[in-house]
Amino acid sequence: MFINGQWVETGKTYDLINPGTGEILAKVADGGTQEVKLAIAAARDAFPKWAKISAKERGAILKKAEANMLARADEIAHLVMQENGKPLEEAKQEVLFSSGYLSWFAEEGRRAYGETIPSPFGHKRLMTLLQPVGVVGAITPWNFPANMITRKIAPALAAGCTVVLKPADTTPLTALAIAQALHDAGTPPGVFNIVTAKDPRPVSAEFLADPVVRMIGFTGSIGVGKMLMEQSAKQLKKLSLELGGNAPVLVFDDADLHQAVERVAAIKFMRVGGESCICANRIYVQEKIYKTFVAKFVEKVKSYKVGPGHKPGVQIGPLITQAARERVDQLVQQTKAQGGKILLGGHPLTEGDCAKGFFYAPTVIEGTQDDWPICQNEIFGPVANLLSFSTEEEVLQRANHSNYGLASYVFTRDLARTMRVTEALQYGFVGVNDGEGYTHEIPIGGFKESGIGREGGREGLREYMEVKSILTNIL
Ligand code: NAD
Repeated sequence: MFINGQWVETGKTYDLINPGTGEILAKVADGGTQEVKLAIAAARDAFPKWAKISAKERGAILKKAEANMLARADEIAHLVMQENGKPLEEAKQEVLFSSGYLSWFAEEGRRAYGETIPSPFGHKRLMTLLQPVGVVGAITPWNFPANMITRKIAPALAAGCTVVLKPADTTPLTALAIAQALHDAGTPPGVFNIVTAKDPRPVSAEFLADPVVRMIGFTGSIGVGKMLMEQSAKQLKKLSLELGGNAPVLVFDDADLHQAVERVAAIKFMRVGGESCICANRIYVQEKIYKTFVAKFVEKVKSYKVGPGHKPGVQIGPLITQAARERVDQLVQQTKAQGGKILLGGHPLTEGDCAKGFFYAPTVIEGTQDDWPICQNEIFGPVANLLSFSTEEEVLQRANHSNYGLASYVFTRDLARTMRVTEALQYGFVGVNDGEGYTHEIPIGGFKESGIGREGGREGLREYMEVKSILTNIL
């Protein structure tokens, strides 16, 4: 663990498993109440000084941390690949992209402008200041072990907050490498702390109970997000919740078919093999092109190479755990039993390179219905669910029929339709003719039960700042 600028061990450890080989990768310090109390106290003590230095000085440290991450990109990518399972090249891209949040927010911190507000009185002056919220308790998932951390802690640190992070139990090593990059960049002790733990509950219980922690920044499942919101009501803590998604993809018959097939397949399979909150979950294709689209899509998916992340040419790695693989398989078998037609895959992979890890065959299913579990829940695995539709009005109604509201996608070459559809989709993100997702510059976050608040973009910084209003009577 990393607490108050020091590497900390506990008597207790847990085994970290490499999901590509099923082997023990490391023994990780198993923290609990005692360690998180120490980390919160360190963050509390470091806060006044960190909040007071200029945004430019904080930014300089964050930029150095970015340079440190880039200098060690291969090594960190290796950690991401080993603990998460994703292919090495994809891991490398994640490390490069995630480090970019450090410099984006280093710069944004310098633009945390307040306002001078026209006063209704001649003798009074009105202005606002933006100030850091305070100590932040951050909790992150395993699917993007680097990106989910920098997207959260870079704005918090740039704003002047101090942070205690609990990374996912399955991906702590990447988090510790980021701590090293920040430490080497000159981040003062206590500003950024990490408590690793097998069981997250004692850590989050302390975040919730200690009034020093003014904000909880969480990325993960809707269930845990709701629990944190409920529990944080006791102290009215500020919350940022980045939760699950059930992304619809709308492919209209005027789309560039080849481009649509390539990009939809990428949105589904090329982001941690489908274990991503913005992955295509329901792929709606217009009737006229449905059959051709399906044939080309299946061919594309057949071409994907599955295996351990270190093998050259591998495009899809294992699922994160055996339990995750079982959950995906149960969903597929349930869909089959309900009448869904499996066009490709539909089973675990257990032979050759895939014998030891938690691999699942890239799967394509059609003939499902909107109220089935596969359409109502996040699939979170390498399973594409294809549905057909007739009209724009119909597909919008079906796409919006969900409690989720994170990402959505539309493929069309009609500008007027693009405008109508992007405005009508009840989602925090709409990708138009795109298969890659967001950038640092654009905020990302959910409508409905997909969350509260935004990460990235200009908005990401504001999440970690309070607005102070100052009224001065000049008489
Ligand atoms: P999860 O909610 O189980 O775990 C996420 C984090 O919360 C982990 O650090 C975990 O240890 C911790 N956690 C789990 N139970 C907890 C509890 N009872 N108290 C406190 N902390 C707890 O989610 P997951 O399965 O690891 O991650 C996948 C989920 O995250 C999916 O729903 C996915 O869509 C979502 N996600 C959302 C975004 C986004 O930007 N909106 C990004 C990535 C992942």
